[in-house]
Amino acid sequence: MNKRTAIILIDALGCDMTEYHGFRPKTLPHRTRLKTVLGFSQAALTSIFTGSAPDAHGLWLMYSFTSGRSPFGILRGLRPFGGTDRLWVRDLLGWKLSRIDRISAYYSLYAIPGEVLERLDLPARKSMFDRLGGGNRRSIIDQAYDEGEVFIRDYNTPEEKAFDELESALESGETLFHLVYTAGLDSDLHRHGSMDEAIDSRLTNYSRRIDTIVARFPDVRFAVLGDHGMCDVTDHIDLMKAVEATGLRIPQDFIPFYDSTMARFRIFGEGAAELLSEVLRSIPGGRLLKSEELNSLGVYFPGSVYGDLIFLCEPGTIILPSFMGSDPVKGMHGYHPSASCMDSVMFSSEEFDGNEAPITGIAGFLLPGFRGGRSRG
Ligand SMILES: [Zn+2]
Repeated sequence: MNKRTAIILIDALGCDMTEYHGFRPKTLPHRTRLKTVLGFSQAALTSIFTGSAPDAHGLWLMYSFTSGRSPFGILRGLRPFGGTDRLWVRDLLGWKLSRIDRISAYYSLYAIPGEVLERLDLPARKSMFDRLGGGNRRSIIDQAYDEGEVFIRDYNTPEEKAFDELESALESGETLFHLVYTAGLDSDLHRHGSMDEAIDSRLTNYSRRIDTIVARFPDVRFAVLGDHGMCDVTDHIDLMKAVEATGLRIPQDFIPFYDSTMARFRIFGEGAAELLSEVLRSIPGGRLLKSEELNSLGVYFPGSVYGDLIFLCEPGTIILPSFMGSDPVKGMHGYHPSASCMDSVMFSSEEFDGNEAPITGIAGFLLPGFRGGRSRG
């Protein structure tokens, strides 16, 4: 039987940022710099849990393009009565996605226009914190459930309560595997940037809570880690305006998806592809990613699932406005993983072999004896 394990996953716990604020739990002597994957939290967390890259587990981004039926197709019939800016439309859609499509994964409609949403799909159907939530791959959570009692608290539990409950669960001693996920730091970093005092006080609170818990349970293996870092925002580009100026039509010529750092385009026809590529190449602050590069980053998907053209911003630049909204933010992630501000970090009670690791290479450390492979789901 494995030693009892407790993992505390702090969204956006960046390596550089922890150094800047002097965050270093005293009770956890080992520190490993983590290289993340291209994408956002869904990609990074699933990569951590499955020990595989997005092109293996399949859950790269929250939204993919669909050539068949979209779970949002219902919006087409509702259009004469209202769009997703109406609360009742959102409620009806939410009911349909959970009850009919059985989607329990986290998603947000953000500010995605209806005409685009109707042509999108949600690749993640189950929550990544549940059994079979690792897409095509088996996750450490699947294995933990197979081995015994499991304690998991995700974004549905307020942070302080999650720490309290973790402490009680460790005290009861019945559970082998514990996982707490918290998104509070991520939202502070988006709002304030990485150098603000608000970050300092949140990290100080984490240190205090973590050191108390670790000191109380010396027989438990502890790992405190993040999924990606955070880069301070210094610039923005109006990509939507430049693309609209081409005169290309949605959905006849293309369907766009404007994330905050990445824009993806599903394209119909040679002419549209050429025109769009030309415009995207002329925009400073970002570049088009070639398939070889996507492949080497573990995010190459043949076909148009996640788009035919993928434009990525330089670290510090955001697309504004985007489907994420029109409010400027002070911190953002979702940049090329080679940027140092994108690195995350792991503090652990046991030593990890090496000072640096890809986040796809730590599943077997987080849950010793983890066997990856294809999911049975
Ligand atoms: Zn975030």
